[in-house]
Amino acid sequence: MRGIRIGVLIALCVGALAVFAWAGRAQNSAAAPDAKLVEDLVYANRILADQDVLDGFGHVSARDPKDPGKFLMARSMAPGIVTRGDILEYNSVGEPIDARGRTSYVERYIHAAIYRARPDVMAIVHSHSPEVIPFTVTGTALRPIYHMSAFLGAGAPIFDIRDAAGMTDMLVRDNKLGDALAKSLGNSAVVLMRGHGYVAVGNAVPQVVFRAIYTQVNARLQAQAAQLGPVIFLSPEESAKAGVSIDAVVSRPWELWKARVGKVE
Ligand code: MN
Repeated sequence: MRGIRIGVLIALCVGALAVFAWAGRAQNSAAAPDAKLVEDLVYANRILADQDVLDGFGHVSARDPKDPGKFLMARSMAPGIVTRGDILEYNSVGEPIDARGRTSYVERYIHAAIYRARPDVMAIVHSHSPEVIPFTVTGTALRPIYHMSAFLGAGAPIFDIRDAAGMTDMLVRDNKLGDALAKSLGNSAVVLMRGHGYVAVGNAVPQVVFRAIYTQVNARLQAQAAQLGPVIFLSPEESAKAGVSIDAVVSRPWELWKARVGKVE
């Protein structure tokens, strides 16, 4: 009798251990996105709205470093009011993994296509900044006017959706258009979109926020400088050197921009 009871007890213990092990594995395979990455992405949304890079439109995303085929982005909403609960996870073709009734940005394929094409890219911003638009429609190249925008030294090619798909509503509505945009981006940090806006890419959320902001600042300064006379831009060599120096201190403005928007939910 006692032997049977001990046997049952052992069987129960083994069973419980097996259940715990299974539950642990199940949790790992559907691991929640990194809390710090989600927080950074919420800050990125708030900062880009605060800096007038995004208004009611535009978006910012981050690749999941633990699962590089996935990326995080807010549900379809104005970036200036995004909270943690609004962040959705997307697969490599830009479809939400667990939307639970929440709608997605129409142009999420911009992000999906660039993450597929550029393994080095960990974060992406898409903006309609009015200051940048003139450089998308005039043939005047956006070039690095000062060290803060040295990343433009790699060029800011223009994607014309007309070349890819003829007459459209100008939106990157599917993966085919996304792939064409990613091809125009090439290895650059920024691609301009004719009559629409631009996309900036980076190796982390703070870097892409920095690049999106200083793309806009560069456009403003370049337009002002051109009114005064011929402009001397950074040379490719200066751009390369300045880019390295500025990348090393991106955390300084990032902390300032975070402080400006205050604590996020
Ligand atoms: Mn757009």
